[in-house]
Amino acid sequence: MSNYKIGWAGLGNMGTPMVNNLLKAGYPVQVYNRTREKEKEAIDAGATSAADLAQLATDNEVIMVMVSDDAAAKEIFTGENGLLAGNATGKLFINVSTVASETSKFLDESCREKGAGFMEAPVSGSVKPAQDGTLIMLVGGTEDAHQKAKPILDVLGKLTVHTGPVGAGAAAKLAINYFLGLNLQGLAETVLFAKANGVRTEDMLTIINEGAVGSGITKLKSASILKNEYPAAFALKHLAKDLRLAKEQGLNTPLSSPLYDSFKQAQAGGLGDDDVMAIYKYLDK
Ligand code: NAP
Repeated sequence: MSNYKIGWAGLGNMGTPMVNNLLKAGYPVQVYNRTREKEKEAIDAGATSAADLAQLATDNEVIMVMVSDDAAAKEIFTGENGLLAGNATGKLFINVSTVASETSKFLDESCREKGAGFMEAPVSGSVKPAQDGTLIMLVGGTEDAHQKAKPILDVLGKLTVHTGPVGAGAAAKLAINYFLGLNLQGLAETVLFAKANGVRTEDMLTIINEGAVGSGITKLKSASILKNEYPAAFALKHLAKDLRLAKEQGLNTPLSSPLYDSFKQAQAGGLGDDDVMAIYKYLDK
C-alpha cells in the first residue's frame, strides 16, 4: 500500500462504497459531497470532511472524483470553487466518473495548466463490485500516473487495464456500457416475447440463466424482473447518458440508435432514477 492522503469528491451509489474500501485498506481519506448530509456514511467509517473542493485539493496528494456526468465533472474540477481553485501543483487527479473522451482530455489539460497530473479510470461494474472491491478499472493516462495510482486502484478493483492515453479509458467505458445496454434490452425483449406467448417469466429466466446465453448481468438482474422492483444500483439516466455519449463519439452501428432511443424514452417516461433494468418496465406496456 502507498501512504498517499486521498481526497474524494462524489459520494453517490458508487463513491460511498469505494471510499469505504479505501478506509478499510488504511488510507486516510478526506471527502466532499455537494449534498453534505451524504458524507455521513463515509465520516462514520473514518473519513474526514473538507470544507470545500479547494481544500480537498490542497490537503491531499491524490484526488479522486466520482460524479454523475460531464457537466458535474467539469464543475467539480474547473468551477469557480472547484478543485483546481486549490493548491493543485504536483497533485494527481483521477476522474473515475463516466464521461466522454473529449471531457477527459479537457480535464487533463486543465490539470496540466495548474502543474498537476491527471488520469482517467472509469470503472466497469456496479454497486456490488464497488462494495467488494472487484471493479475493473479502465485507465487512460501516462504510465507514470498509472504506476503512482496502481496501489489505490488495486484496492478498488480486481483488475486494472491501462488502455492508452487519456481518452482511451473513457472510450473503453462507453464501449462496455453499450454492450451492457444491448444485454439489458435483449433480456427484457426476450422475456417479454416469451411472456406474450404464454411462457412464465421465471421459467424463461431459468432457461436463459442456465444456458450458454446466461451471463453475470442476466443473473444479477433476474430478481428485479421477477419482483418488478427496480431500486437503482446503476440509475437508468446514467446509462441513457452513456449511450448518448457513445453516439456523440461516433457509435453508429445498426442497433445503437434504437437502443439509445429506448433508454432515452424510458428516462423521459419517468424511469431515470430507477435501476437500468427498469427498461423491462418501460417495454412491458
Ligand atoms: P449517483 O448515485 O447518481 O451519484 C452522483 C454523484 O454526483 C453524487 O455525489 C452527486 O452529488 C454528484 N453530483 C452530480 N452533479 C453534481 C454537480 N453538478 N456538482 C457536484 N456534484 C455533483 O451516481 P453513481 O451511480 O454513483 O455514478 C457515478 C458515476 O459512475 C456516473 O458517471 C456513472 O455513470 C458511473 N458509474 C456508475 C455505476 C453504477 O452502477 N452506479 C457503475 C459504473 C459507473 P449530490 O449527492 O449532491 O447529488
